[in-house]
Amino acid sequence: MTIQDRFCPKCGKPLETDGFCPSCRAADTAWAVCDTRVASTHCPSCGATKQVNTWTDTDREQAEIAPDLARSAVHFHPDVKKRAIAVEVRDISPNRSRAYLTITGTLYGLSMEKTCTVELVWHKEQCDRCNRITGSYYEGIVQVRADERNLSPFELEAAAAIATQIEESLIAGGERLSFISDMTENKDGLDITVGSQHIGLMIVQAITAQFGGRYTTHPKLVGEKNGRQLFRITYLVRLPRYQRHDVVKLERVYVEVEQVDSRHMRVFDLSEGRSRSIKEDEILRRIGNARNAQPALVAYIAGGMMGLLDPETGVTKEVQKKPWHTVDVGGNVQVLRDGDTLVVMR
Ligand SMILES: [Zn+2]
Ligand SMILES: [Zn+2]
Repeated sequence: MTIQDRFCPKCGKPLETDGFCPSCRAADTAWAVCDTRVASTHCPSCGATKQVNTWTDTDREQAEIAPDLARSAVHFHPDVKKRAIAVEVRDISPNRSRAYLTITGTLYGLSMEKTCTVELVWHKEQCDRCNRITGSYYEGIVQVRADERNLSPFELEAAAAIATQIEESLIAGGERLSFISDMTENKDGLDITVGSQHIGLMIVQAITAQFGGRYTTHPKLVGEKNGRQLFRITYLVRLPRYQRHDVVKLERVYVEVEQVDSRHMRVFDLSEGRSRSIKEDEILRRIGNARNAQPALVAYIAGGMMGLLDPETGVTKEVQKKPWHTVDVGGNVQVLRDGDTLVVMR
């Protein structure tokens, strides 16, 4: 017979080891502590939520946020295992909800359970982005213009779509201040007011990648904040004078513009039926854009010529039938008008 010489000093239970028994240890440990109140701050305009001093966009509604917010009020002792918190939330007013928590876990092999009530406070505060937008703060303006002509409706629409797409992807990537606060068409082109220099640069790069042309940046000192100089940048985009599908007259032939960059122009020669490069100064004038071509009925084909029914006058006009024109009598070709001449598109 051995003499049991270890006992829990609190309840007197015999023990294998020194110290208190598990029940007495558990009973003395604050295994789960609840804050009585937790607050969440969100922007009433855009729904973004604030954690410490950082705003984050979220699609979650208050009802979805509430259980997680309530759980954040619980602090477990590090020895607690199998932690679980069941939450029931009741809204009391627009600014207050009450959460009823049932907290369970195990401590030193014993099952623990307790309940607590947490007040959820819903603060409203305008976020950094909405604050800048309503305060008309901006860091740059992108001005989209064309060289010696107006922007086409197509270019206006496409440039606006490119800008919006870039804004969406930057904001989704967490760049909250890369917003577009204003986008206006005016007689010169399109003006896009942007919240950061980064989005301004991304927009001009994307627009010139799509349409060719060039951009220049013009910083202007607008003030100082915390010893740092504040600049506002104007990004000026100049789209090329000629755009894709423009049909232009050279000295002897008409060509359709296929591609423009700062130095070269790739065109489709509507006489020879093939692509080639030209210099911009070979162009005499622009007659239109192939997107605006009209269909003309082919009335006859004879002796290397074809008779086209002029879509505007209804009179038949004769034009040369080039070997690359693959059309039969009774079919249609697309034409642009240059004075009295009908120019057949491809
Ligand atoms: Zn004990
Ligand atoms: Zn906001």
